[in-house]
Amino acid sequence: MTVTRFAPSPTGRLHVGNIRTALHNWMLARKTDTQAGGTFVLRIDDTDAERSREEYVEAIREDLAWLRIEADSEERQSQRLDTYEAAFAKLLKAGRIYPAFETQQELELKRKIQLGRGLPPIYDRAALDLTDGQRAEKEAEGIQPHWRFKLDYDEQISWEDGVRGRVKFDPAQLSDPVIRRADGSWLYMLPSTVDDIDMGITQVLRGEDHVSNTAVQIQMFIAMGAQPPAFAHEALLVGKEGKLSKRLGSLGCDAFRERGIEPEAIIALLARLGTSLPVEPIVDRAVLLDTFDLSTFGRAPAKFDEADLERLNTAIVHEMPYGEVKDRLPDGMDEAGWHAVRPNVTTVSEAQEWWRLVTGPIEQPEFSQEDEAYLGEAAQAFAWGDNPWGALTAALKDRTGRKGKALFLPLRQALTGMDHGPDMGELLPLIGEDEARARLDRAAA
Ligand code: GLU
Repeated sequence: MTVTRFAPSPTGRLHVGNIRTALHNWMLARKTDTQAGGTFVLRIDDTDAERSREEYVEAIREDLAWLRIEADSEERQSQRLDTYEAAFAKLLKAGRIYPAFETQQELELKRKIQLGRGLPPIYDRAALDLTDGQRAEKEAEGIQPHWRFKLDYDEQISWEDGVRGRVKFDPAQLSDPVIRRADGSWLYMLPSTVDDIDMGITQVLRGEDHVSNTAVQIQMFIAMGAQPPAFAHEALLVGKEGKLSKRLGSLGCDAFRERGIEPEAIIALLARLGTSLPVEPIVDRAVLLDTFDLSTFGRAPAKFDEADLERLNTAIVHEMPYGEVKDRLPDGMDEAGWHAVRPNVTTVSEAQEWWRLVTGPIEQPEFSQEDEAYLGEAAQAFAWGDNPWGALTAALKDRTGRKGKALFLPLRQALTGMDHGPDMGELLPLIGEDEARARLDRAAA
């Protein structure tokens, strides 16, 4: 059974990059659902009490609900502090955690010196050389230690990444990560590993900015006697120019919703962006799930273009059944109304504008004398039936010899006040006999 998780820090709203990670983890779990029953866990990474906010936790839940990326369970790191404490105590006892006393400035200075000498800025483990006496002295001075996880230099790190293939790290090329601050608060690295073990996570899929974290965490899994999960790191999302974009970092569900983007358009795009599969207006998630496969993911950054999203959205809106949109349509718009205007909208809310052509009032243009006379004929020829538009235009063609634009445009203008718009054959029955007659009479007068 596959167990995946999405682990946002509630320090802000979800942006398109996080949404993509959430979606892919949801897909991994749901994909196996049909075979073995997968589980998708929402884990709120809220150990940073200062920056985490309850309003963001709620916003994350709401956004995921809007996208219909439902979690099977929710966990919160802030409620699991005892567990981290226990893991910490064990690792400390096993000699895999050690206290360090350097200040930020001291560490900065060390880095500068290393870089100046052309060396990689790896922590030099000076804290390991402190004697018990020196440590006691620091503490007596009121300096509380922060804590580092001691990497095992003899244990080469290697994993088969679901996207990147075989990845290898020499632990000696990594810094022992700080896992706990001097005030006792937790950094991301250890709690995440403890959670992945406790929650039985089988597959960790996240952005490639986490690759070196994975290297460290693999040693943590092993140090805690656990089997590391399968890892996959997807290429980052970039703007259409190919660069990491600030805009993407703030582009989230609110902005999408405001612009009339349907959740299914976001899902259809993000499910396949950066893969070798074509991005198509697919609303059936079963189809997206069936074709979802990490081996189709490329190593190059995935380019997110808002214009693509808008195109996809329009295509999806054009196919949306009435039942799915009816609560968002203008008063009185029925199924026939939606079907009439649907091909002309790019978002559902635009239905409102087109519906005004039916409900009125409409503003007709100034007609030439010739067109006025023509519309007079139209008023006379007008008869109601099964297909009033077909009957009207056929009759007028016979009576006036007009065809094409000369035949249709003045009628459209008289009946809707617009030069273009939904199919008149569908619109006219919605306008209704009396109103249509009144509009023609008015244009002819
Ligand atoms: N809270 C971490 C983040 O948002 C989670 C990373 C992970 O998936 O392990 O980057």
